[in-house]
Amino acid sequence: MTNLDTITEKILQEERISTDEALWLLENAELSELGAMADLVRRRKHPDGVVTYIIDRNINYTNFCNAFCNFCAFYRQPHHEEGYVLPVEQIEAKIQETFDLGGNQILLQGGHNPDLKIDYYEELFRRLKTTFPSLWLHALSPPEIVHIYKASRLSLDETLDRLIAAGLDSIPGGGAEILVDSVRKKLAKNKCSADEWLEVMEVAHGKGLRSTATMMFGHVETRAERIEHLNRVREVQDRTKGFTAFIGWTYQADNTELGGDEVTTAEYLRTLAVARVFLDNIENFQASWVTQGAKMAGASLAFGVNDMGSTMIEENVVAAAGTVHRMNEPEIVAAVQDAGFVAKRRDMTYAERLEPARA
Ligand code: SF4
Repeated sequence: MTNLDTITEKILQEERISTDEALWLLENAELSELGAMADLVRRRKHPDGVVTYIIDRNINYTNFCNAFCNFCAFYRQPHHEEGYVLPVEQIEAKIQETFDLGGNQILLQGGHNPDLKIDYYEELFRRLKTTFPSLWLHALSPPEIVHIYKASRLSLDETLDRLIAAGLDSIPGGGAEILVDSVRKKLAKNKCSADEWLEVMEVAHGKGLRSTATMMFGHVETRAERIEHLNRVREVQDRTKGFTAFIGWTYQADNTELGGDEVTTAEYLRTLAVARVFLDNIENFQASWVTQGAKMAGASLAFGVNDMGSTMIEENVVAAAGTVHRMNEPEIVAAVQDAGFVAKRRDMTYAERLEPARA
């Protein structure tokens, strides 16, 4: 019979919990109990008291998109007068600013622009890597990659090979939302399926690319569907070990077609803690200060989080949905220290540990 004692015993014995047990925890455990479990798992995986972060910048190269997600306030329909494709010179200027602040990674993502085929990305990546040879290109979430190969009439395999040859270094885990097709259909009619999202990641991992895994929750899904999402991610990770980190964040409702309410911070922390305990094969958990704010990001360090994510010099997508939180490097370092941890800069693979550039 599922109860708190049997699940706690499993966690103490470092045994994997089942989907039923994860759902039981999410629905029944006290917030303090969930925090204690997640903290135990984090301390076991990261006993050194270090909380990491990365200096990087989001660059949204286009907002034209034909996926029409009803939770998205960022996109514009093709040919809309407020749509854009950033000139390469502007992208380069943003990268230079990132280097000037001590970073060498950009997170390059955009809408599903029907006018941009694979040759656009190959030319862009090659140019950026020529201008900035030490640039780490963390680019193109799985739905964008699916869009590119379909628009370019290529296979996934060839698309990834060509993007890697042009300079792609790793893949952000965006566009996962909830990896359950009945949920995805309620959010985005033209977006890739759960299987397609997972296939991109599994094939990319097989080619040596690393990626993150994400979950955007608190919209139309049930708690059981959140657990199903986590289980799909855990299954792929068992096979590939290619996810470097998990990032969960909550749906932001302002300016969106979907509208509705946003979940409470307690629900965010509950879900985060259960994910930390359930995803026993993912080493790093990132805070989502972009959606939750600096204080809650600091609090999440007691709910399984060991990474503050990115300084995110620029962020447009969540900001379009009415949520504007900012944290620069000294503020991240201060939040980490206030919570009793040591702050270190990292790279995308989490291999590097550097002192803060600016504390
Ligand atoms: S979330 Fe991404 S794919 Fe969906 S509409 Fe917005 S830009 Fe397009």
